[in-house]
Amino acid sequence: MLVRQVFAGLFLPAPERSRIAPTGGGGRADLAIEDPRLSDRVQKFPESVIREMTRIAALHDAVNLSQGYPDFDPPRELTEAAKRALDGGYNQYSITWGARELRDAIARRAKAFNGIDADPETNLVVTCGATEAMMAAMLSLINPGDEAVIFEPFYENYGPDAIVSGARPRYVRMEWPDWTVDEEELKAAFTDRTKVLILNTPNNPTGKVFGRPELKLIADLCTDHNAVAVTDEIYEHIVFDGAKHVSLAAIGDMSNRTITINGLSKTYSATGWRIGWAIAPKTLAHAMRRTHDFLTVGAPHPLQIAAAVALGLPEAYYRDLASMYQKKRDLFVRGLQDAGLDCHPPKGAYYVMANFGRFPFEDDWSFAMHLVERLRVAVVPGGSFYGDPKDGRRFVRFMFSKRDETLTEAIRRLRGLRDVR
Ligand code: GLN
Repeated sequence: MLVRQVFAGLFLPAPERSRIAPTGGGGRADLAIEDPRLSDRVQKFPESVIREMTRIAALHDAVNLSQGYPDFDPPRELTEAAKRALDGGYNQYSITWGARELRDAIARRAKAFNGIDADPETNLVVTCGATEAMMAAMLSLINPGDEAVIFEPFYENYGPDAIVSGARPRYVRMEWPDWTVDEEELKAAFTDRTKVLILNTPNNPTGKVFGRPELKLIADLCTDHNAVAVTDEIYEHIVFDGAKHVSLAAIGDMSNRTITINGLSKTYSATGWRIGWAIAPKTLAHAMRRTHDFLTVGAPHPLQIAAAVALGLPEAYYRDLASMYQKKRDLFVRGLQDAGLDCHPPKGAYYVMANFGRFPFEDDWSFAMHLVERLRVAVVPGGSFYGDPKDGRRFVRFMFSKRDETLTEAIRRLRGLRDVR
């Protein structure tokens, strides 16, 4: 079957699942929590493997190349602006959908960089990170049984986003090694139940940057099926080799049916600030504001004020960011290849999916646990990015948003793989 409809692993009955995913130090998220008071919903998705691997990294004093965050600080302009805001009377709630200064700054940037027209009064919602924006979008759009088209491998959160909102995922595979999408498979994923398509470009975990022809096809399919596109563009400035990020909302009439999600975390190396936003057509933004209000009321007010400063940084900042990451990519991918891993330089974002098939490990978890326990490098098992975790069993995801010293140390440790071959 071309299109996989369910999280095969995740929808197994609890005892079944716990056989394939033992807990107790093995490092696998357990699905079932034995307590009859809990909702069915919360039993359907495990703890985030990405965040779990970060904790396992700490246990083994490993170089943490699992969860995607930098080991360096945001630009000083941001931290200085945050301090000023803390001293400047911004310590109470902002307007629930975002401080006006920030919405104005987002609208200016969306126009200049993405070619998207956004009215700060009607089209914008500021959220606690892109994570909340994604969940608020799904909760605002999905009725139980509606289908969500999701490119696979996918960023882990989209699974629980679908489960919590009640969507049935229909996966469309991006094929190793260049992560191409089969047009017929994509077309076949759309049905009369399709409500949303989730797009993440530049893509986590594959590094794929969707090109204009693919986006045009996606736009046509969404239009033909009256589906809403929810696009996570958090890596929009991290693109390599002259690639250009294109926003789906800027294609044709797509701004009428696209929720464009972004945030500070990756562009400004400020993952802990939890400032994200969504740009949406008026009615969808209105609904998302309502959902967001009751989820979190609002994002941290002083950090929103500092975020407005971030969005005003000069163009040179974004060029430097992309070239810094391109150098890191080149250094790191070479190191992975020297260590015997099969991987290709990603076109964007800061992750590498590496195939470890030539090493004698049973699956992605056994390889990842070997790396963290023996070589002290933490990565994410590839299965976490697939509806059926078995499909990712030959992959692990590395991330390279780290200082060059950190990457060099990781590469040094990974040379220990030579003893395994
Ligand atoms: N997006 C990052 C990753 O994929 C961080 C995820 C998170 O922990 N929120 O690793």
